[in-house]
Amino acid sequence: MSQIKLSILDLPRELYLEVCSYLTVPDLTRTARLCRDHYLAVQQPLYTDIKIETHSKLIKLVETLTKTPTVSHISPQQRLRWFKLSNAELRGREIKYLKLVIGSISDPENATGAVLSRCVGVISRHSPAVKITLTLNGLSEQLMKQLQQFSLPNVSKVIVYASSAGNDTVISQHPSAFSFRNRLNTNDGMSSAARFWDLLFSDSTFTDLRSAFAATACASREGLPRSVAEAIDLAIQHHSSHDQFSRKMSEEDNGSLPFHGLRHMEEIIIAHNNYLDVASMQSLFGSTVIPQRLTKLEIVGCPQLHPIKDLTALSTLLSRALQLVKHFKLHLYRQPTSSWTDWETRYAERIEEHPEEHLCNIVRGLSKRLRSLDLALPFVCIAIFDRPFKERFVHPTGAALGTYPTVLFEPYNTLKQRLLAEGYDYRRVICMGNMCPPLRGWQEMIGCATQSESDKTSWEMMLVWEDQGSWHMPGGLTRYFEAEDVLTRPFVDDA
Ligand SMILES: [Zn+2]
Repeated sequence: MSQIKLSILDLPRELYLEVCSYLTVPDLTRTARLCRDHYLAVQQPLYTDIKIETHSKLIKLVETLTKTPTVSHISPQQRLRWFKLSNAELRGREIKYLKLVIGSISDPENATGAVLSRCVGVISRHSPAVKITLTLNGLSEQLMKQLQQFSLPNVSKVIVYASSAGNDTVISQHPSAFSFRNRLNTNDGMSSAARFWDLLFSDSTFTDLRSAFAATACASREGLPRSVAEAIDLAIQHHSSHDQFSRKMSEEDNGSLPFHGLRHMEEIIIAHNNYLDVASMQSLFGSTVIPQRLTKLEIVGCPQLHPIKDLTALSTLLSRALQLVKHFKLHLYRQPTSSWTDWETRYAERIEEHPEEHLCNIVRGLSKRLRSLDLALPFVCIAIFDRPFKERFVHPTGAALGTYPTVLFEPYNTLKQRLLAEGYDYRRVICMGNMCPPLRGWQEMIGCATQSESDKTSWEMMLVWEDQGSWHMPGGLTRYFEAEDVLTRPFVDDA
């Protein structure tokens, strides 16, 4: 009896690709060396999803793509198996996803803007539908200048860690050191901050950008704060070395230049970023360019924004963002200092005179359609809630009425994702300082966060100074916890 020899090449093409999806890149390259049928067969899985972390590998990839594969014909036997596929299809090296990391610590070579643009150009001509995620670690002023000269098509997501050492000092000493109005005339005089936003959102370099993450506090992901508590510490360090409490309330700056790239943006995360000051925020979120497609906006721990001095700009941001996005996060970590009483008085006067700038009022009016809302502010109050305060039901025996929520509080770092997946809306309010004057009373806020069973919103309330925290689910028992305990938990790694 003759023995039947089976090879994985005998599998239908779909199954073969399925098998390949479980193999690592070294496994696939080893398979390619077996014979020319295998070589051809693994081209597609090998090139679909690529991660490149060094300059030399990027050059190698581009060189490989520009060469035609060394095997020109498929064998008659293989032709019989996968008869529906043409040679070109089998040889297809179409890249669907490319993760490109520039400036990793392990890479001694730095790509210039020209090289990067040429490589991305070759890759996108070769694979016109490729989606590129570009990570720029320690983005320097020099590389920013270079990149402004070129276009990087097909980059749909950019993750930037700009090294802003030295720049933030200049900006904080001269808060109006740059004017967006003057940029047209003096391109060379552009400040680092103006250049940074121009590079990301002008639509001239990143022409296909949909998602952006922009930080300046560190040169790579490893340097980012790992929890809210670490982020607060970072903010305190920054504020003690750059105390700007003596500055006046900022006036509205209408001289912004529109960033046309914002029109295509779907996600923007600006975290620990010294370049986001009141002028750039007005230019990004207060101009005539409305980011209609934006579904997620996060502004976290940006030390140039003053929660009270820049209240006008923040209220514009909030009222615009809440009408556009589904997921919104605004974390301002400035905490009360010795000069705080002065600011508290000014804040009280301001919101009395301009109730439309009282952020709690804006949240109450506009947050209904949001899936998730995460706020850390120096002042919050009962005005956030659209329901009246009512005393919490207490049974004559002294026990609060309610049941245990069906969603578990722990593990806390995935609570938000789990709540959203279960169809709940997510709300978190972190009070860094006090209640908005003259409305006082954390207990009243807690009472408002407790809801009837018909609601579908989870509320987490935290009062940082008092180390108090509570979690309120519709019809459920309130869970009390120490704020510090959950704020020191590490963030979920979702990048
Ligand atoms: Zn308030």
